[in-house]
Amino acid sequence: MAVEPLTIGGTEVRPGSRRTIDIPAALLYTHAPVTLPVQVIRGRREGPVLLVNAAIHGDEINGVEIIRRLLQLPALRRLRGTLLAVPIVNVFGFTDRSRYLPDRRDLNRAFPGSERGSLASRLANLFRTEILAKATHVIDLHTGAIHRENLPQVRANLDDPDCEAMAQAFGTPVIINTPLIEGSLRQVCNDESRPVVTYEAGEALRFDEQSIKAGVQGVVQVMRHLGMIAPSRSRRRARESYAANNSTWVRAEQDGMFRAIVALGAHVQQGQALGFIADPFGEKEIAVEAITSGIVIGRNNLPLVHEGEALFHIARFDAVRRVARYVKAFNRELEEDQEWQGDDPEPPIV
Ligand SMILES: [Zn+2]
Repeated sequence: MAVEPLTIGGTEVRPGSRRTIDIPAALLYTHAPVTLPVQVIRGRREGPVLLVNAAIHGDEINGVEIIRRLLQLPALRRLRGTLLAVPIVNVFGFTDRSRYLPDRRDLNRAFPGSERGSLASRLANLFRTEILAKATHVIDLHTGAIHRENLPQVRANLDDPDCEAMAQAFGTPVIINTPLIEGSLRQVCNDESRPVVTYEAGEALRFDEQSIKAGVQGVVQVMRHLGMIAPSRSRRRARESYAANNSTWVRAEQDGMFRAIVALGAHVQQGQALGFIADPFGEKEIAVEAITSGIVIGRNNLPLVHEGEALFHIARFDAVRRVARYVKAFNRELEEDQEWQGDDPEPPIV
C-alpha cells in the first residue's frame, strides 16, 4: 500500500524521515517571531498518525519531559505510521511560566478556535488545522495546577470504545471518565471522531520522576496497542485499570497552616483525618476529614490555605482495595520492566 504524503506547515515529510518543523505562530511586539514547533517521525510503513502534545497549559511541564524522553527511544527506528510530537502547544504561556495566554485566556477552552478570534482562539485554530487535523489518535499530557499534585491518571470518554481501549493501554491504575469540557482539545477531538486520552500527573512547574516515567510508559503502551511499535518482550500480564465511579474534593473548613498526613494514592476511609489546619500559635486547630472513602488522586501541597480551598481529591471505586494494591504495585513496577528504554537508560530526576 502506498504511503500518503504528509505536509505540515508547508513542509512535506517523506516516509522513513524525521523533521522538526517550526510553524509560524506570531510576531511579538518585540519583533521576535514565535513558532509552534512540531517533530514529525514517519515510519516507512503505513499506520496510525499519533499526536502526543503537552503544555496546552503553559505551566504544565512534566509532559514536555515525557516527550523529550519519548523522542530518544530506540523503538521509534522501526515505527509503523507517524508520530507527531508537540512538546509545547501554549508557546506564549510556557515563556511566561503561566497556564494561560497573555490575553489571560485558557487555550484548553478556546477550541476549535478561529482565524479571526482572540489570541487563544487563533493559536487553537493554528494547532487544530496544521497538526491535529493530520492525526488519527491523540494523547494530551497535563499536570495538576500550581501547588496541586495529581496521582498519575488517565481521563477519557469511556463511552467511546476506541478512547476506552487507549485509556486501558496507557495502563495507569486509575482512569477517570470525565465529561467533555466546552472548548477543550478533548471536545474537539470527540466532535471530529478522533480517539483521545488525557494524562494527568504531578503538579505545575515541577518535574516528577514517577509521573514522567509513567507517562513515557503509557505513551509507549498506547503505541503498542495501535500497532506502531513492536509488542513488549516482558512476560508480565497487562493489568486492567480501574475506572472511578466519581470523585469529590475535600475543602478547608478554616483559614490556616495546613499539614497533610496522607499521601497521593492512599486508601482513605470516610471520617479519617487526612491532615490538620492550625493558626500559627496552634491554638485553633481542626482536623481535615475524608468526606468519603476512596483513593486520594489529587492533593494540595501548599501549607497556606484559605477557607474553601480544595485540599484532597478523592475518587470512589467499587473495588477500592484492589485499586489501592495496584497503585502500590504500579510504583514498584515502574522501576522494572522498562526494556523500551534501550540499553542505556538516563539517570532519574530526584
Ligand atoms: Zn492542564
